[in-house]
Amino acid sequence: MSYADFYRRSIEDRDAFWAEQAALIDWQTPFTQVCDHSQPPFARWFVGGTTNLCHNAVDRHAATHPERNALIFVSTETNQERIYSFAELQAEVERMAAMLQGLGVKQGDRVLVYMPMIPEAAFAMLACTRIGALHSVVFGGFASHSLASRIDDAEPAVIVSADAGSRGGKVVPYKGLLDEAIRLATHKPAKVLMVNRGLAEMPMTVGRDEDYAALREQHLDARVPCTWVAADHPSYTLYTSGTTGKPKGVQRDTGGYAVALAASMKHIFLGNPGETYFSTSDIGWVVGHSYIVYGPLIAGMATIMYEGLPTRPDAAVWWSLVEKYKVTSMFSAPTAVRVLKKQDPAALKQHDLSSLRALFLAGEPLDEPTAQWIAEALGRPIIDNYWQTETGWPILTICNGVERAPSKFGSPGKAVYGYDVKLFDENTGEELTGAHQKGVLAIEGPLPPGCLQTVWRDDDRFVKTYWSSIPGRQVYSTFDWAIRDDDGYYFILGRTDDVINVAGHRLGTREIEESIASHPNVAEVAVVGVADNLKGQVAMAFAVLKDTTALTDANAALKLEGEIMKVVDGQLGAVARPARVRFVTVLPKTRSGKLLRRAIQAVCESRDPGDLTTIEDPTALQQIKDLVGG
Ligand code: AMP
Repeated sequence: MSYADFYRRSIEDRDAFWAEQAALIDWQTPFTQVCDHSQPPFARWFVGGTTNLCHNAVDRHAATHPERNALIFVSTETNQERIYSFAELQAEVERMAAMLQGLGVKQGDRVLVYMPMIPEAAFAMLACTRIGALHSVVFGGFASHSLASRIDDAEPAVIVSADAGSRGGKVVPYKGLLDEAIRLATHKPAKVLMVNRGLAEMPMTVGRDEDYAALREQHLDARVPCTWVAADHPSYTLYTSGTTGKPKGVQRDTGGYAVALAASMKHIFLGNPGETYFSTSDIGWVVGHSYIVYGPLIAGMATIMYEGLPTRPDAAVWWSLVEKYKVTSMFSAPTAVRVLKKQDPAALKQHDLSSLRALFLAGEPLDEPTAQWIAEALGRPIIDNYWQTETGWPILTICNGVERAPSKFGSPGKAVYGYDVKLFDENTGEELTGAHQKGVLAIEGPLPPGCLQTVWRDDDRFVKTYWSSIPGRQVYSTFDWAIRDDDGYYFILGRTDDVINVAGHRLGTREIEESIASHPNVAEVAVVGVADNLKGQVAMAFAVLKDTTALTDANAALKLEGEIMKVVDGQLGAVARPARVRFVTVLPKTRSGKLLRRAIQAVCESRDPGDLTTIEDPTALQQIKDLVGG
């Protein structure tokens, strides 16, 4: 079937299309209705059906191919390599499920997972979905304040964590940050399950903290059957940044997600049972959820979980894994490729990469030089794909599993089946149907299976944030600008809101501003994302001080900048640390007091700041110009 026909069917004959895809997973009870869209914008998929995510990812393969590789753990930080077959993975997941139940976790409860890239993190996620509990994974790079706000929103019964992660050979202790986060949070988890890797101090709070290894010993023979849950039972929440300082809990269902992932493994990621998938992301991000843990396992593939840098011990490490485990599909981010690009390209040529069907890249714009460099260096197809934490799987790409089609540099591709993608004028709400017209990329409801059901415990925010920003229409806004060419290929032109993307990590500038403003000498601050050759974007902060005598000389300014960066490191984590903090006496604002972030960003990128007729104090922008020019 041509892709055009396949796509058209997914939109025009939606229910029949998805009913067919639903056969890719196991159902305990068949569904009676494919999509209930009677209360838009909410969509319920596979109504009446019951299933289980863990069963589809683990048990069904353990039953038919128990010896096959399921999880391949490689850490170049601790020099460990461990392989779990599907049978072994199931045993570990059942042990973890028994431990969680023993700690009081019940169906519908939340379990917060704050962990480095170790197998126990995947066990915890799968154990949760096995028993119908919701996991809420918080990226290990986030610090105590970020963690505390997520604890308060998720209200977990149990937190699963570890003594430490490791990055570039440096131990990153977790326990202190976790204890501080629990102290800051209003909600207190009853129990904390700690994995001790022997990397850092792990002081235990008596009565609350439990040792994973000790508990595991008690549950070695545990058998915990999968709990069959309704297709729309939430499987997890995952926090993502938006325009306010408060992160949003993206809530995902069970049946729709399983079907969407299974279908994407076939039509997009070219994965077959028994093959090996390697995604270099982190379980703290959506790619880690969909394409380290669930997607590949649902497809019956082995998945590589990698802890370490792409350049350590050398720039050939990833490619040596591709060769060793005959990886067929690999998933990474443009930032990682830009890091590799600085290394000797010979590193890629040392290994036999013939097993690799394609390298998939996502998370941030893929610039042409990076795409070209990696395509030439690998000699394998490079497939860009565009999506968001909210959607859980690609919105735009080339579905080579349906019909082979050329990629175009600079474009992630065409609308993916199931997504009724449109462009709208943000002011008038008019649909832009012509080629090369710039508009807001939006999706007509219902969103396909696998996308967010709602914002955790905040239906109102779900509707107001995502479905109410295009005048006169109830369509899902991605908050990205885009154009479409004559062939239906889209090109992403950046965010319409204050979200920035640093090395593929999505950050809200408001969150960073709030953190900086907590420094006792900061009166006001503006944070913007500025183009960067390596990271795509970096955060730049401009602060107005309460007491400017702190700025007696350049050294004092440097010291203050360091102090502020430390505040951000401690509260949000190093991922959110601005690249620079500069001091000004006034910030550029409109007369009504709105920060002119886009004008600041333009000046930082040496672009024309545009219409400044509403600016309150024109010298404010000049100050920034002088600072970044110098
Ligand atoms: P996240 O929710 O962290 O995955 O971030 C989603 C955002 O990252 C999108 O709204 C885009 O702004 C950006 N993004 C993700 N993938 C791509 C891509 N392939 N090309 C351009 N931008 C992307």
